[in-house]
Amino acid sequence: MAYSLRVSGIVPESIVDGPGIRYAVFVQGCPHRCPGCHNPQTHDFEGGQDMGIGEIAAQIEENPLLTGVTFSGGEPFCQAEALYWLGLKVKAMGKNLIIYTGYTIEQLLVMEKRRSYVGKLLRLADTLIDGPYVESLRDLDLPFRGSSNQRIIDVKEYFSKQGRGEQAERESGALITV
Ligand code: SF4
Repeated sequence: MAYSLRVSGIVPESIVDGPGIRYAVFVQGCPHRCPGCHNPQTHDFEGGQDMGIGEIAAQIEENPLLTGVTFSGGEPFCQAEALYWLGLKVKAMGKNLIIYTGYTIEQLLVMEKRRSYVGKLLRLADTLIDGPYVESLRDLDLPFRGSSNQRIIDVKEYFSKQGRGEQAERESGALITV
C-alpha cells in the first residue's frame, strides 16, 4: 500500500527538534488546540499538503549528515498508521527517531487498545516528548520542550521498566489477569 501523509512542512536539516542534525516532519492536523501554540497553522486537518512516505524516505536516505528524524506537528498520533510505515523505513536506515505528541504516554497506551497503530508507532520511537504545551509552565531554558510538564521519555527504557514492574507484580501475585 502506498501511504501518504498530510504534511504542514518539512525541515530537511533541523538543529532544534532534538539532538544532532535531524530531518523534521511537521504533520498537519492537531486536536489539542493548546493556548499559545507556536504552530497554529498546523491545527486544521484540511490544511497542508499530501506527501508520499516513499518521497520523504528518499529525501532522508540521500542525506548522510542526518543523525535522526523527528515527527512533530500537528499531532503525529492522528496519522499513526502512515507514520508507522515511514518510521519503519527510518529505523531500517539506522536513524534515531523522536516523536513529539500533545498526548501523554499514558493516554497513548489507552488509545492503542482501539487503534493498534498508535501503539506500534509509539514502540518504534527512541524518544517521545509528550504532553500538551501549557503556557503557564512555559520555560525557554528547557532543551527541546516548550513547557515543564512535557517529558523526554526514553521509550525502550520505559517499556523495559514497565515489563519488570509487571513481572514483579506477577511474582508477588498482585497482578491478576483474566
Ligand atoms: S499539541 Fe503541539 S501543535 Fe498541537 S496545539 Fe498543542 S502545541 Fe500546538
